[in-house]
Amino acid sequence: MATVNENYLKLKAGYLFPEIARRVNAFAAANPKAPIIKLGIGDVTEPLPEACRRAMIQAVEEMGDRNTFKGYGPEQGYGWLREKIAHHDFQARGCDIEPDEIFISDGSKCDTGNILDIFGKNNKIAVTDPVYPVYVDTNVMAGHTGEANDQGEYGGLVYLPISADNHFTAQIPSEAVDLIYLCFPNNPTGATATKEHLAAWVNYARSHNAIIFFDAAYEAFITDASLPHSIYEIEGARDCAIEFRSFSKNAGFTGTRCAFTVVPKTLTAQASDGSKVELWKLWNRRQSTKFNGVSYIVQRGAEAVYSDAGQEQIKALVSFYLENARIIREQLTAAGIQVYGGVNAPYVWVKTPDNLSSWDFFDKLLQTCHVVGTPGSGFGAAGEGYFRISAFNSRANVEEAMKRITGQFTVGNRE
Ligand SMILES: *Cc1c(COP(=O)(O)O)cnc(C)c1O
Repeated sequence: MATVNENYLKLKAGYLFPEIARRVNAFAAANPKAPIIKLGIGDVTEPLPEACRRAMIQAVEEMGDRNTFKGYGPEQGYGWLREKIAHHDFQARGCDIEPDEIFISDGSKCDTGNILDIFGKNNKIAVTDPVYPVYVDTNVMAGHTGEANDQGEYGGLVYLPISADNHFTAQIPSEAVDLIYLCFPNNPTGATATKEHLAAWVNYARSHNAIIFFDAAYEAFITDASLPHSIYEIEGARDCAIEFRSFSKNAGFTGTRCAFTVVPKTLTAQASDGSKVELWKLWNRRQSTKFNGVSYIVQRGAEAVYSDAGQEQIKALVSFYLENARIIREQLTAAGIQVYGGVNAPYVWVKTPDNLSSWDFFDKLLQTCHVVGTPGSGFGAAGEGYFRISAFNSRANVEEAMKRITGQFTVGNRE
């Protein structure tokens, strides 16, 4: 008799986005004429940069000629792409990262889950609350947690609450943890971390022999020159951190698929006999065995991000979304709603007005404004009373959504 991985049965059934879809579909069925605007799921809306398109078209032609055709590429990614990344994203910022420490993949979502393959079963794992749900659910699937309680908190995980009180940056834990997930600029709160905050985490990790998983999917949205783009800008991070990067949000690759993970060769973790094992070797082995590389065509598209034209075009894309975020912040603030984030990030984290719960605000916004956002409580218990609005949309949709919300919620207009 075949059996299942029962860890999957611990996953909370009513997952956030299906529940949102259910409520939106029910509303749309009852109100077929309502012009719904979705500022919910974090997906980009604007087309691929021209430089990336051109590079991919040329790569398709190469694949059609037997002289330039490519079969399997290196599992770790082509050297020419890894060199550009190492040079441009790291060495140019003073980070000591070599091309062979960069592993090209088809997404950060899979990498942040897959990385658990090379770690032991008994690590103490810390996540922020609220958090990107992938970090939690992949640990549940891997059997690193107990059951969930009514608030969706899993036994065995260490939850570090983040709220306006701590500027959405977690306090360094007093207990010892082994693996720590950090995401800056943050999804869902839009918060950023200063060099001092990251340095405190690096110090903690080094003194506890812990490893930080640093998700920098939104680094391109940093406009404040004092903020770090990479954790390797912090001294000592080579010895305690793995960094995840993606072309999804800076270059609109959510449907094209390319990302990378940085595993420094100096990074080690312990085996049960007390010896230190290089994590680079394990990740290299894992990728060589379970992954066959990213499409040549897509890697050429990603390489074009680093051309002069590509750099200009991704800057324009990011600026476009940041202007949307600025409009959202400004309009909601004018309506008397407290907002956070949205300055160095494409997400605005809203304190729900009138102390509404996250889901009550969701329903009210849907019913009165026909605008869809994401309830903060879906990202964790401490997200209750907050709401995420995404800047990934057309300018016209953002402006129209804000017009409806300010009309409805401006103090004095409230029911
Ligand atoms: C969008 C996003 C990513 C990128 O995921 P891909 O699989 O590379 O598209 C990674 N982390 C967070 C927190 C994200 O929101």
